[in-house]
This record gives sequence, structure tokens and C-alpha cells, in this order.
Amino acid sequence: KRSRDTREVRDYIRTIVDFPHEGILFRDVTTLFADARGFRMAVDQLLSPYAGEPIDKVVGLEARGFILGGAVAHQLSVGFVPIRKKGKLPGAVLSQAYTLEYGEAVVEIHDDALKPGDRVLIVDDLLATGGTAAAAISLCERLGAEVIGCAFVIDLPELGGRKVLEGMGHEVYALTA
Ligand code: AMP
Repeated sequence: KRSRDTREVRDYIRTIVDFPHEGILFRDVTTLFADARGFRMAVDQLLSPYAGEPIDKVVGLEARGFILGGAVAHQLSVGFVPIRKKGKLPGAVLSQAYTLEYGEAVVEIHDDALKPGDRVLIVDDLLATGGTAAAAISLCERLGAEVIGCAFVIDLPELGGRKVLEGMGHEVYALTA
């Protein structure tokens, strides 16, 4: 007799040592996405805190946030809006710079993708320093939208992202550390 599968979301995530640089423990969610049961659980769990809440748009962060955010938006029957790295979006954009460990990065959103008062859920795979998510929140708010939550599969609490986002007055939800 086969025993029931009791694996949790975290059990499907693989850690790759020294990628893309020495000293980095890269959390690889491709193994989660590739598994029917794992992917289903991750999407269901990302949604669950927002049941019954009005949401107008899901905003996904390049690139793994597109995969999760697309599935979440479909399940909520709302539209999906991408935030991308500089130079990728074809239309008129709003840009937001943020600091990385070495240097600066820029993310962009189409300037007509959200409208004032839109209630937005931001989705990405992983929260580290919070720089990317903070820049995404700024873009949404510059378009007049209200960010009602930020949902991640993984939170690396020692990198401080949760504190940064909560300090900006935003709720953070993560499935696993
Ligand atoms: P941060 O802006 O520092 O919060 O970094 C978050 C972004 O970088 C997310 O889009 C993640 O996909 C990616 N990222 C940062 N650190 C890792 C890591 N250890 N493993 C996998 N992805 C990471």
C-alpha cells in the first residue's frame, strides 16, 4: 500500500551552493514549479490569506514572480501586471532605481498598468534584502494603487527584507524560511 505524500512546499525547493557567486545559497524553485503537487500547493497557499479580500490586480516580479503571479491572478480571476528589469517593457514606463550590494538596479512598470485606487497583491518567489519588493511597492504607489499585501514563497529573515517592508507599512506573507 502506498503511503500518503506528506511533503510540504519547502521540501520541493532545492538549494544550490555558490550560485551565481561564491558564498550564495541559491534557492531553486524550478523543482517546486516542475512538480504538479508542489506547484499547486504553493499557489493555493500564496492565495489563502487573501480569501474574501477585494483585489484588482496581481503584480509579479521578474522572472519567477511571473510564474507564480500568473497562476495566482488566474485563480483570483483578476489581471496580471509585470514589473520588469529596465528596458524590457515595450510601452511607456515608470522607472524605480534601488541599491544592490554592488551598485544599482532599475525596475519598470507600464505607466498605464494600474490606476488610482487599484488594490494590488505583489508576488515573488523570494524575499531577501527587500530592495526589489520595496521598489515594486514604490512603482505601484506612484501609479496611485494600494498594495494590500506582498506574498513570497521564501523569506530569508536574516537578510532583513520583512523588516524593510513592514517598516514601509506593508504586510508580508511567506510560505517558508
Ligand atoms: P532582494 O531584492 O534582496 O529582496 O532579492 C530578491 C530577488 O532576488 C528575488 O527576485 C529573488 O528571486 C532573488 N534572490 C535573492 N537572493 C536569492 C537566493 N538566495 N536564491 C534565489 N533567489 C534569490
